[in-house]
Amino acid sequence: MSKAYRVRPGTKVRLKDFDPNDTSEFKGDKEEAQQELEKLNTELERLQECLYAEGKHKVLIVLQGMDTSGKDGVIRSVFDGVNPQGVRVACFKVPTPEELAHDYLWRIHKMTPGKGEMVIFNRSHYEDVLVVRVHELVPGSVWKKRYDQINAFERTLAEEGTTILKFYLHIDEAEQKQRLLDRLADSSKHWKFNPGDLKERALWGQYMQAYEDALSKTSTDWAPWYIIPANKKWYRNLIIARLLVGTLQSLNIQLPQPLSEVDVERYRLQLLVG
Ligand code: AMP
Ligand code: MG
Repeated sequence: MSKAYRVRPGTKVRLKDFDPNDTSEFKGDKEEAQQELEKLNTELERLQECLYAEGKHKVLIVLQGMDTSGKDGVIRSVFDGVNPQGVRVACFKVPTPEELAHDYLWRIHKMTPGKGEMVIFNRSHYEDVLVVRVHELVPGSVWKKRYDQINAFERTLAEEGTTILKFYLHIDEAEQKQRLLDRLADSSKHWKFNPGDLKERALWGQYMQAYEDALSKTSTDWAPWYIIPANKKWYRNLIIARLLVGTLQSLNIQLPQPLSEVDVERYRLQLLVG
């Protein structure tokens, strides 16, 4: 079911065709979804521990979406309970002068997962075909080449053993307005409010175009995009957790061989006499 949200390579995405309010078979039954999410949290915890113990696979999760779409919320809710050892979050903000002095993938490549690691990108190299395109921070002739470059980069990561999942958190303009109003209404949330978000919001149409192009051109067999209905936070979390658990299960992760009975006995005796 969750696979339905996967963007098939080569399809032209029109975000208007995707309902951000979709809650599928749950029809708004938040309770039931919450229970399933708890089970998935536990399973994710187990799978992540196996991933870390096996030390073979690398997992990269890319989160993209407009301001307030829930990137931080997903990190909090879906990875709730996962051992912080072996999981890393990398946030990509406005590039520093040093980062800008390099190619746009330089800062990204450094943060990719090593063996046994799971890394979550809160924003990513996709900003370089999104905000950079909308604000014309580089000429069109430069950003237009980046889709192919990104596909090649992600292909290299995949061929070298990285499993890549990319989630676009799909909210609509009305939902964003409400979330920004909620932030203003609660002084404990003021730190999350950035006046700059209003300027970006005014460019909604241009961002949607940039997202449609990115989703259409960079969903590949080795690094698929999923368009996640994200107006309902509980549904967004559930679908991402399902996709993640399903993908990790399919990796068939093996715990290292247990010790033989003879070895266990030998070590036990060493400890007892020592
Ligand atoms: P936030 O994730 O809300 O903390 O905001 C980070 C900001 O950094 C967003 O406005 C992004 O659009 C911006 N940003 C991230 N990457 C880039 C980039 N490569 N070039 C310009 N701005 C960026
Ligand atoms: Mg922000």
